[in-house]
Amino acid sequence: MEGTIRKEVIPVGTTVFERQRPAASVIARSLEGARHSVFWRDDLPENLTPDRSALTGTRRADLVVVGAGYTGLWTALLATERDPGAKVVVVEAQRVGWAASGRNGGFCEASLTHGHENGTARWPKEMPALDRLGLENLDAIEQSEARYGMDFQFERTGQFAPATEPHQVEWLQEWAAEDEDVLYLDQAEAQASVASPTYLAAVWEKDTCGMVHPARMATELARVCEERGVEIFEKSRVTGLDTSGSGVIVVTEGGRVEASRAALGTNVFPSLLKRNRLMTVPVYDYVLMTEPLTGDQLASIGWRDRQGIGDLANQFHYYRITKDNRILFGGYDAIYHYGRKVRPEYEDRPDVWEKLASHFFTTFPQLEGLRFTHQWAGAIDTSTQFTAFFGTARDRRIAYAAGFTGLGVGSTRFAGEVMLDLLSGVSTERTSLEMVRRRPLPFPPEPAAAIGINATRWSLDRSDHNRGRRNLLLKTLDALGLGFDS
Ligand SMILES: Cc1cc2nc3c(=O)[nH]c(=O)nc-3n(C[C@H](O)[C@H](O)[C@H](O)COP(=O)(O)OP(=O)(O)OC[C@H]3O[C@@H](n4cnc5c(N)ncnc54)[C@H](O)[C@@H]3O)c2cc1C
Repeated sequence: MEGTIRKEVIPVGTTVFERQRPAASVIARSLEGARHSVFWRDDLPENLTPDRSALTGTRRADLVVVGAGYTGLWTALLATERDPGAKVVVVEAQRVGWAASGRNGGFCEASLTHGHENGTARWPKEMPALDRLGLENLDAIEQSEARYGMDFQFERTGQFAPATEPHQVEWLQEWAAEDEDVLYLDQAEAQASVASPTYLAAVWEKDTCGMVHPARMATELARVCEERGVEIFEKSRVTGLDTSGSGVIVVTEGGRVEASRAALGTNVFPSLLKRNRLMTVPVYDYVLMTEPLTGDQLASIGWRDRQGIGDLANQFHYYRITKDNRILFGGYDAIYHYGRKVRPEYEDRPDVWEKLASHFFTTFPQLEGLRFTHQWAGAIDTSTQFTAFFGTARDRRIAYAAGFTGLGVGSTRFAGEVMLDLLSGVSTERTSLEMVRRRPLPFPPEPAAAIGINATRWSLDRSDHNRGRRNLLLKTLDALGLGFDS
């Protein structure tokens, strides 16, 4: 079998996506009818998108949660599990799950540390506990779907990491030698599993990841929260937190919630706490969704185990199959805009979608003729430790969690548990973790942030084009604990 796969001489300074570029006409035709719209939101049934009213007047609550993405919604749901009698109010600036939680890739990973390598580099002693807590968290997400009769299309398929360049094969071999829970596949086995001519080898982690329908996950969580008595207000942007009395008053443009405690799940948006304003930056990530594949098209790519796929470069692609057999293909370019703002106009990047379409047909040339129906983007909540940070403010009346850096589908539930632990004041295994207790460094203000982030991005791209070798900037960042290695 090995002998049937062509070995190519690789020109220095290129990647397979440049060496095996599809014709421009193939790319143009595939994008002709694509709508700038989030497939997952368009795919929601009407009963999951009720138009909730804005907050008016004064409400009283035990806990007020700001933000109705996964972090806020899990926090609200878990609060009702801990105390079924608790009065919980959620206040959301726009709609439930409209932001990252409704537009992501749907890779629900066990990792709480943005991958094992990132965690091991920062909290080596805690990794056994973090790995165990991460798996428990993933199991709890899967169990919650069944327990509450939610349908967010969870499929525990695991994750498949293919090497598309020779130097990445060595990385996979090292990984497989260190981790007995992963399955190493050589070139023939990798291509027999998922039929891409770009694959040189792969590792399959079978148990640590599930695929979900992201917008369904957010809206189903909201539905269950409401069934359990949580009040959710939409179109109610919180403008201030008043802690001059004994509790917390959350103030919106039209009303206020007076509560004993508040949990902030506002992620990449400007923090309501001054101390967190420099802790995250929005980095834009772009996504394409194809039309459903025909039976013949599906047969041509194999992929019968339906794993989530993430290749190994610094600038990596992630892709997965949906329930109705479309392929979501995203990642690679991650774009930071000077001024750290979240703006709808940053989402419109035809050049980036064209590059993604090109890389898609390099990966699956046999799908030539397949069309993309949707293209969209979202802001990744990047922190300097590439995973969430946590804390409390104002005499422990307010808790916060943010900075998931593109890996929050699973770990936001853990973050909800951490915030509730912190607000209760009881020490738990979670709150004793150094990962939870230690705040990462903030990003510098502009122009240093833009210069640093763009220089890092350029260096990562160079590294992908130079057999993975890291330049001086990347080595320095690695040494300072600020290096990113996907
Ligand atoms: C394109 C893309 C792909 C991704 N793919 C994956 C993936 O495959 N796997 C993975 O694990 N992670 C992925 N992520 C990351 C993941 O989606 C996020 O980490 C996660 O959704 C964060 O959830 P959240 O609730 O903290 O934030 P959000 O979903 O952003 O929710 C925050 C909410 O807070 C609200 N808010 C903010 N400020 C205020 C205010 N002042 N008043 C009231 N409300 C406010 C916002 O309106 C928003 O609804 C991806 C992200 C993007 C953008």
